[in-house]
Amino acid sequence: MKKPGNYSRILVTSALTYANGDTHLGHIAGSILPGDMFARYCRLAGYDIIYVCGSDEFGTAIEMSAIKEGISPKEIIDKYHFANKKAYEDLGMSFDIYSRTSSDIHSKTSQDFFLNLYDKGLLYQKTEKQLYSEKESRFLADRYVKGTCPVCGFEEAKGDECENCGSALSPLELINPKSTITGDTPVVKESTHFYFPLSKYQEKLEKWIDSKADWKPNVINYCKGWFKTGLKDRAITRDLDWGVPVPLEGYGGKVIYVWFEAPIGYISNTLELFDQKGEPEKWKDYWFREDTKLVHFLGKDNIIFHAIFFPAMLMAREGFVLADNVPANEFMNLEGSKQSKSKGHAILVKDVVKKFNPDSIRYAIASNMPENKDTDFYWEDLQAKNNNELGAILGNFVNRTFVFAEKYFDLKVPERGSLEQIDNVLIESLKSYSKRIANYYESYKFKDAVGETMNLVRDANKYFNDTQPWKAVKDNKERCSTIINICLQLCHTFAVLFNPVLPLTSEKLLEMLNEDKANFSWDKSYEMCLPDGQVLNKPEILFVKIEDSQIEN
Ligand SMILES: [Zn+2]
Repeated sequence: MKKPGNYSRILVTSALTYANGDTHLGHIAGSILPGDMFARYCRLAGYDIIYVCGSDEFGTAIEMSAIKEGISPKEIIDKYHFANKKAYEDLGMSFDIYSRTSSDIHSKTSQDFFLNLYDKGLLYQKTEKQLYSEKESRFLADRYVKGTCPVCGFEEAKGDECENCGSALSPLELINPKSTITGDTPVVKESTHFYFPLSKYQEKLEKWIDSKADWKPNVINYCKGWFKTGLKDRAITRDLDWGVPVPLEGYGGKVIYVWFEAPIGYISNTLELFDQKGEPEKWKDYWFREDTKLVHFLGKDNIIFHAIFFPAMLMAREGFVLADNVPANEFMNLEGSKQSKSKGHAILVKDVVKKFNPDSIRYAIASNMPENKDTDFYWEDLQAKNNNELGAILGNFVNRTFVFAEKYFDLKVPERGSLEQIDNVLIESLKSYSKRIANYYESYKFKDAVGETMNLVRDANKYFNDTQPWKAVKDNKERCSTIINICLQLCHTFAVLFNPVLPLTSEKLLEMLNEDKANFSWDKSYEMCLPDGQVLNKPEILFVKIEDSQIEN
């Protein structure tokens, strides 16, 4: 195995998907596609790497969706866990495991985590007044309550915030509070909760983040903002039915708060992965050894959890590896406004994969990835990327190469004779392209990686035009044979270098070249791997043109 810098192995995570709705392109651009592209690159680079993701299935939002739809929370999460898992598969995502936080293994892992901190005396309890519905026999947390905003007088303010004036609220501050579900007027009752002493970890966290010179400025600045205000201790239990039960006697009706338990999903999913592989101890290599490079991919709304809360939990637990990087993305909006599944303004993955080539969707998002600022998804842009780049540049090059191979060389790799300067210049450029693109992946610059890969195809097309194989085939067949040999070698190069963003196309190219996976690695991307005489398979059209009618709503 090759080593990624000073590390021996890589653990990649994409933010867990909340299982109360269908996943949309905003999630893909924020955390899923960059994670998948990075994981795919790392595998090709020969690193020891696992890629972990899954569904986040507890919390009030799922319980509320269930109450509203008149079904159980379990029915909600089953529906969306499997739907989202399939949507990700359809879009070519290559998780080593996509599991769920409702699994037994996750409950146990979270409870062990909780107990470890409890046994060390790190957690403390605090009794607080809370709203309680006698009719529903439940405490009304956050969004279970609505009422009048004490700041602006808006009558539909939620228990945790007023959407009218933007104030952060607590349910007790609301005037005329009512249960969101039944409209019942709650009473005030006392409840005791466990707290995590986050404030104690501020200094350690600040030092840790100060050592991260290579993190994105947006992530560092966001954390510094929190440090400036001062970190406050946070409740890690809730009065709810739907969640991981607090593992202590006398705490019935209390669960571990989802902010605390969900990120433990990365650990429990790793455990589950190696359990399935029959190596139940191996997960420890990834979580307990300092030479593991842990990378969390996420959208900017999740920075707080991955750069502050979760690392503090891991520091408290001791011995666990902390993130090497948290390359958070900004948002990808939809034609000018934020994608939101709750507001119905989002492109659902399950719909879009039915209409378009998954690779074209991946490419359009990757070329416009919101790495440093918000970007917008436009249907016209998907069409343009598919037709003008994937089809007209990559598809065209592959197509004309195969047309020649089929028509003049019996669908075999023709012999490569003596090389001319134009051949050498191109062949020598492959290594520097490959290194440059690798550097972009290693530094989480996915947009640049994809752009540079397409630049290489532009060079390849120029080579085809300049060498004029259609003339050579008449005047000098041996020369034509060399040109087409080199063009076929380039198709192999593209199968490797495009794999992170275009996995399905990459597979098709390998199939057309009749290549097994022996030469399928980053280091082989700049070598002339195809032997003379290798029998090729019939070419396929890689990208079908997207017509105007297909993108009109
Ligand atoms: Zn307000």
